[in-house]
Amino acid sequence: MLLQLRTKSVASTVFPAKSEEGILNLLLSDVEEAETRIVKNVQNQTFPEEWSSPNLGKSPLAKLKPFVNDGVLRVGGRFDRANLSYDAKHPMILPGKHRVTEMIILHYHFANGHVGPYQLLGETRQRFWIVNGVSSIRRVLRRCHECKCQNSIVGKQITAPLPAVRVSSDSHQLIYPFAAVGID
Ligand SMILES: [Zn+2]
Repeated sequence: MLLQLRTKSVASTVFPAKSEEGILNLLLSDVEEAETRIVKNVQNQTFPEEWSSPNLGKSPLAKLKPFVNDGVLRVGGRFDRANLSYDAKHPMILPGKHRVTEMIILHYHFANGHVGPYQLLGETRQRFWIVNGVSSIRRVLRRCHECKCQNSIVGKQITAPLPAVRVSSDSHQLIYPFAAVGID
């Protein structure tokens, strides 16, 4: 989604490509602004109280010590002095159940070769903090058709019981090799 656009826009800043009308040229700053607006909109919909006053003690987000920076609700955390990017130190908070979150999860899942939930959680946390991350990721990945095909269990047939001639101890029922031979 946006992240794909981000990659394309980086290329377009180096090699600006014109559309047929010659008017559509997205810059990296445009994509970043769009992404920020979408995240703000999602946060405003799902965490209206935390967004307006992030220090609510009763909020389920309280343990994340959230704060608002440029209108975006971010994780507080203890990594201020770490040698990491700002997004990794203070990822943007996203709800577990939201279409935008699902699209971001799928983007990282496809971009990283259909990785499993824990590695995917680590990748997404470089930028986003998904509430109830593991369960949200598992729910989204259950719908990935390619993973379903790769991880599905091969069906096993229930075989029929062996015929009496193969298992009976009765000599009348046993058929020995070459007991019945036909010649044309
Ligand atoms: Zn997959």
